[in-house]
Amino acid sequence: ELTVNKGLAWLKTINEKIQEKKDYLTDLDQAIGDGDHGINMARGFQEVEKKVEANDYADVSDLLKDAAMTLMSKVGGASGPLFGTAFLKLSMSLKEKDPVDYPSFSTAVGAAAEGIKQRGKAGQGEKTMVDVWVPMAEYLQNAQEFKPDELETKAKSAMEATKEISAKRGRAAYLGDRSIGHLDPGSVSSYYIFAALAETLQ
Ligand code: ADP
Ligand code: MG
Ligand code: MG
Repeated sequence: ELTVNKGLAWLKTINEKIQEKKDYLTDLDQAIGDGDHGINMARGFQEVEKKVEANDYADVSDLLKDAAMTLMSKVGGASGPLFGTAFLKLSMSLKEKDPVDYPSFSTAVGAAAEGIKQRGKAGQGEKTMVDVWVPMAEYLQNAQEFKPDELETKAKSAMEATKEISAKRGRAAYLGDRSIGHLDPGSVSSYYIFAALAETLQ
């Protein structure tokens, strides 16, 4: 069950991981993008933590809505609106669901993945964060129960698989096949989001 307190812990754990990996994310984006992904994410999730710490929330949906709005307004680049959309779709899908049970959460991740695809006009296999969100939504919907270790492992392998893909969307698409051999930065930060979830709900 995802309660408001666990949701708060999830967002804080995401921020911790992003701050810790800021330089790494920037290095990844330097290889196939413009080298700002670490900075964008670190600023965004720092603001998310600040925002949610300063407020009280009636339910998880409200909490994630504030996270979404903060990401949309504070994160520059492609990833801000995309992660903002993901959290907004989570929030919308979890409306009136408190505490959040496993099936509701799985459905919400499906809505988030769909939202990212639409917003970014991206499909699977184009070397974007979609390549983590879509398989995670499918995994959660098939799994029936919450297994933190398995969730983390799945997210990690989805993230690692982006290395072999030739980019078709985002800045990396300018490199085409020269993007092969590099991880997609947005997929790595998406992995941190799911790894943080696994840790929080351990
Ligand atoms: P920018 O590329 O504008 O500098 P970031 O560096 O913060 O923004 O984010 C780059 C990440 O955003 C990529 O690694 C990729 O995962 C994701 N991304 C970029 N464009 C798209 C898109 N059209 N659809 C889905 N994800 C995308
Ligand atoms: Mg960038
Ligand atoms: Mg940029």
